[in-house]
Amino acid sequence: LEQDVARLESLNAVGQMAASMAHEVRNPMTTISGYLQIFSRKKEFVNYQGQLNQLLAELDRINQIIKEYLALSQNKMADMRLVQLNTIIESLYPLVTADAVAACKEIVLDLGDIPAVYIDAKEIRQLILNLVRNGLEAMDDTGYSLTLRTYADNDAVVFTVRDQGKGIPQNVLANLGRPFFTTKQNGTGLGLATCYRIANRHQAKIEVDTSSRGTTFIVRFKIPKEI
Ligand code: ADP
Ligand code: MG
Repeated sequence: LEQDVARLESLNAVGQMAASMAHEVRNPMTTISGYLQIFSRKKEFVNYQGQLNQLLAELDRINQIIKEYLALSQNKMADMRLVQLNTIIESLYPLVTADAVAACKEIVLDLGDIPAVYIDAKEIRQLILNLVRNGLEAMDDTGYSLTLRTYADNDAVVFTVRDQGKGIPQNVLANLGRPFFTTKQNGTGLGLATCYRIANRHQAKIEVDTSSRGTTFIVRFKIPKEI
């Protein structure tokens, strides 16, 4: 027990250090970003618009990494409640549809008759968003529909995200969920690591079914047993 407590305390210390560091790094970044925006409006810098935009984009990227890393390293207790997963998906629908429309794609809902499960709604919302964003990004070149489905299967509630992208090659598949692993120019490589961590905290399983016609991420939640 003492060891457990020590381990928990050091985990918390890491989380707190990450939070302080994020704060310390963000302040100077705000200053840099502010000046870059001022410069980009000045006629003296008219020939440097491309470079200035690139610098601003890189700052955005750093911000994104910090935000996701912070979420990943947080060690808050999960707030487990009996929740209807379909309700969470429906509440996210406008947001993910906006993302899809911006990418000229569509989101299809196929929500089944499922019992409520014990989940931390905030974390599951994040997991869904991360999988949806990956699915939409996977369809950059090919594919139109991203389908979010729920169904009951024996002792599990299953949630799937199916895209019509190119699929995941073997060498990438082997690295899924490794923090900072990304194949994208502007990726952080933290989306799936966060998903796996959240699933782990829920004793949920994530499976991946992929082919050249697209990829399905499958998340299985245990149904609580009748008392
Ligand atoms: P990021 O999206 O920032 O790259 P993620 O952890 O979300 O980081 O994903 C890691 C990598 O897994 C991606 O760069 C991509 O190569 C691959 N990947 C994830 N989801 C999909 C998908 N639906 N289709 C194809 N590749 C995917
Ligand atoms: Mg991602």
